Amino acid sequence: MTALLSIRDLTVSYRGNGREALKNINLDIAAGERLAIIGESGSGKSTLALAIAGLLPASARIGGRIDWQMSEFRSPHQPSRLRNNTPLGGRDIGFVFQDPSASLDPVMTIGKQIAEVARTHLGLGWPQAYAKARTLLDRVRLPDPDTALRAFPHQLSGGQKQRVAIAAAIAAGPKLLIADEATSALDTIVQAEIVSLIRKLVAEDGMTLLFISHDIALAAELADRIAVFRHGELVEIGATEQIIDAPRHPYTRALLDAHLGLDAEPLLPQAGVPR
Ligand code: ADP
Repeated sequence: MTALLSIRDLTVSYRGNGREALKNINLDIAAGERLAIIGESGSGKSTLALAIAGLLPASARIGGRIDWQMSEFRSPHQPSRLRNNTPLGGRDIGFVFQDPSASLDPVMTIGKQIAEVARTHLGLGWPQAYAKARTLLDRVRLPDPDTALRAFPHQLSGGQKQRVAIAAAIAAGPKLLIADEATSALDTIVQAEIVSLIRKLVAEDGMTLLFISHDIALAAELADRIAVFRHGELVEIGATEQIIDAPRHPYTRALLDAHLGLDAEPLLPQAGVPR
């Protein structure tokens, strides 16, 4: 597989913060792969996502480079920014965050927010952009998409709002979907539904997925490869099966032990059982 992007010697530090948020990261992300970034809070996962999307704040000092496969690159690739300057859906990168209430505009209908992404990045007129929004609401399995188009975020549950945020994130057909703790605020059943939705959409649209989570079990459900971060360093990366069955780094083992201490369910499904 060709690399969608190559990260070389990436180091990021924030002004006023003593330690580096990322240290000398080298990582290739292949086109079409599903890569999970896992690690505890503060390990640099969000910093990596923001660096890839070109969205780090001005206070960040950046060293090293991130090279995009130019044939996959459609400029400008920065996601649209909606409320609070939060990026959502762009032409090259779609972003889904932990809290959809923070990324969706409370006084704009859901249909308009999704249509806005399609209008901005695909140059569609409003009628076509709304038609696209309706199709997307159907694809993210929101019940009654026609009514939902005219609804406001507060009229939806947390899980439904996250479906809308996902629809906005993919509205312009991005190559790369970044989900940063996108299911962490949801209860377990809704979390499983959103993971299954992300898996379906990524497969249907042939997107590359960067799935960021503190939860190694969740990552194992979705990812082809897992990269383990600790204190800004990439400590281990490998195929999901290798990371789960034969972790090499003691920290990865500790994460797995911590999970198994809470929940004795096997992390990977039995052979032959579809995920
Ligand atoms: P994670 O996503 O794994 O929780 P982050 O990338 O958010 O980790 O944070 C990595 C480190 O960078 C932490 O020490 C955090 O406090 C620091 N950091 C993150 N964002 C900022 C910022 N905007 N200003 C200063 N420090 C930051």
